[in-house]
Amino acid sequence: MSRPQRLIVALSHVALCGPYAAESNGFYPLVYYSLALFIGGSLMDKWEDMVKKTAQMSEKERGALMAENKRLCICAKCPSYVGTGEKELLFCLTSKSTKIKKEKGCTCRTCPVGSKMGLARDYYCTRGTEAQQRGKK
Ligand code: SF4
Ligand code: SF4
Repeated sequence: MSRPQRLIVALSHVALCGPYAAESNGFYPLVYYSLALFIGGSLMDKWEDMVKKTAQMSEKERGALMAENKRLCICAKCPSYVGTGEKELLFCLTSKSTKIKKEKGCTCRTCPVGSKMGLARDYYCTRGTEAQQRGKK
């Protein structure tokens, strides 16, 4: 679904359900829910776009992108990471950690790689990559 189509769906959702939800004081939660659906859908599309773009890159370009993402990764400051002996990074795009076992908080949502690559999940070190969590691998 394209971005304009998602906007139409979200606004239709508000227009059709709003009057009923308003009667039960549920109008504003409905608006936020629709906006969240729209924004979530946008992120999902960005991820899919990035997957297509990286597939078209040369090996050298892909290597440079991964190196840049690894440089930006903020896992090393995360409470689930500190003290585990883990040295690897970029679990969102590579694989789960073999050392991190306990989920004590995840800082992925504030990581610049997330917005750059269109990531929409978290706890990649324990739950698997973005692709795995989306059931794509
Ligand atoms: S999203 Fe998480 S796993 Fe991926 S680079 Fe950022 S901090 Fe590391
Ligand atoms: S993936 Fe999330 S939970 Fe795991 S180390 Fe990185 S920031 Fe922390």
